Amino acid sequence: MNKNYYLLILLCITTVCSVFGQQNDITNKLFSTYEKYKEPSIDERRIKHEDIQPLITKIGEDPRFEVNKVGESIEGRSLSLISVGTGSTNVFLWSQMHGNEPTATQAIFDILHFLASDDFKQEKEDILKNLKLHFLPMLNPDGAQGYNRRNALGIDINRDALMLQSPEGRTLKRVRDSLNAKFGFNLHDQSTYYNAERTNKPATISYLAPAFNYEKDINEVRGDAMRVIVFMNRIIQNYAPGQVGRYNDDFEPRAFGDNIQKWGTSAILIESGGYKDDVEKQFIRKLNYVSILSAIYTIAKENYKDIPISEYEEIPQNDRKLFDLKLIGVTYNLLGKPYKLDVGIHRNEVDIPAKNSFYYSSRVADQGDLSTFYGYEELEAEDYTITPGKVYPMTLKYIKELSQLNIEELLRLGYTYVRIENIPENQRFSNMPLHIIGPNYKVHTFNLQLGINPTFLLEKEGKNEYAIVNGFLIDLNNGDGKFSNALIFK
Ligand SMILES: [Zn+2]
Repeated sequence: MNKNYYLLILLCITTVCSVFGQQNDITNKLFSTYEKYKEPSIDERRIKHEDIQPLITKIGEDPRFEVNKVGESIEGRSLSLISVGTGSTNVFLWSQMHGNEPTATQAIFDILHFLASDDFKQEKEDILKNLKLHFLPMLNPDGAQGYNRRNALGIDINRDALMLQSPEGRTLKRVRDSLNAKFGFNLHDQSTYYNAERTNKPATISYLAPAFNYEKDINEVRGDAMRVIVFMNRIIQNYAPGQVGRYNDDFEPRAFGDNIQKWGTSAILIESGGYKDDVEKQFIRKLNYVSILSAIYTIAKENYKDIPISEYEEIPQNDRKLFDLKLIGVTYNLLGKPYKLDVGIHRNEVDIPAKNSFYYSSRVADQGDLSTFYGYEELEAEDYTITPGKVYPMTLKYIKELSQLNIEELLRLGYTYVRIENIPENQRFSNMPLHIIGPNYKVHTFNLQLGINPTFLLEKEGKNEYAIVNGFLIDLNNGDGKFSNALIFK
């Protein structure tokens, strides 16, 4: 090889490094300054149309932003498009097509605050002179109202791209067509039980560059979506290593992502999944903010064009093998004989619409050899035997009397239920780790099987060392455990 060739290689390496160097700088800065731009009024998942309207109105008062009502939901809630920038390349981002998937809606308002601020002047000038950004937050406000996936008609808007029966879907298509956007960000949430294939890592973020035909061909439009995904994956790896999944890319002819790709917009699906101890998904919201803004910047600078598509295929596939709690190798006695089992537990959320909140009602989701599954929380239970919980022999008059009992001591003695005479009509759960039962309620004989509420003791050499109440694990030696609620059975 001659000298010039070496020089050329050296030059290439320095150029690539400096491009990624600059990029890392802005990404790190976005991450470390995030709190400054975070919209504080929408920090829980059950946000509604009425929560975001004042935010949209306020943004509309800034002359740099254009706010247009572009449609209405079936129940008459407005759909707003917020646009900013003077560039000739349109980038379109829409969120919450599924009403119970709010994480990216929150991140969109953080991004808008960032764009409205006086900071990051050079980067923002690069973005806004090259691109015009269009945000449509909360495409399914009727679904969001009751924290439901589907719209008021009971259909999945993401299967309405061909029939276009929903006004929400029609709005999405009309806006896409009118902008003929170069990039489209289709922003969703996914189950927290997804993991990166064959690892115990939750798929905190999952991506898909949807196929536009059954052959799953890769043209320039889809290829560009893959390149930007690779770029965002590299970013997320810095903050949540190993916690990215790639969705199955089988063609779905009815879905918006697949059709938008077909209509010529590079469609990027982003799914916000789970992250340990982040129930309201606020860290995941931050990851959305950082990675989407960085992606917008790289689209403006056209740096994504050199990214190899092959790296897209290296992102691990999404799998669904997580439990909230997994007990490993516990002993269970049935008809006088002991068996070794793993037990997988899901803590399901039950909505309390009036309070815009929820409580947990847990279930045994699987049992048997679960060695290919994982838990956010795992207990090596080889030395323990499952013992059914008992009903405390004294009946209390009122719930408030519970505070006079030493509940940890009752659990150690094997009691997981307490009978109470007067239970308020609409109360469904208790914040103490004992189930409350009504005067006539009969606790069923314990039989470990799918679907039961996981409530029992783990006993070792005659001593109860752990309690599991409504799927929450409590260490009876030191009281450790993240307990949320027990249930009321009447
Ligand atoms: Zn979704």
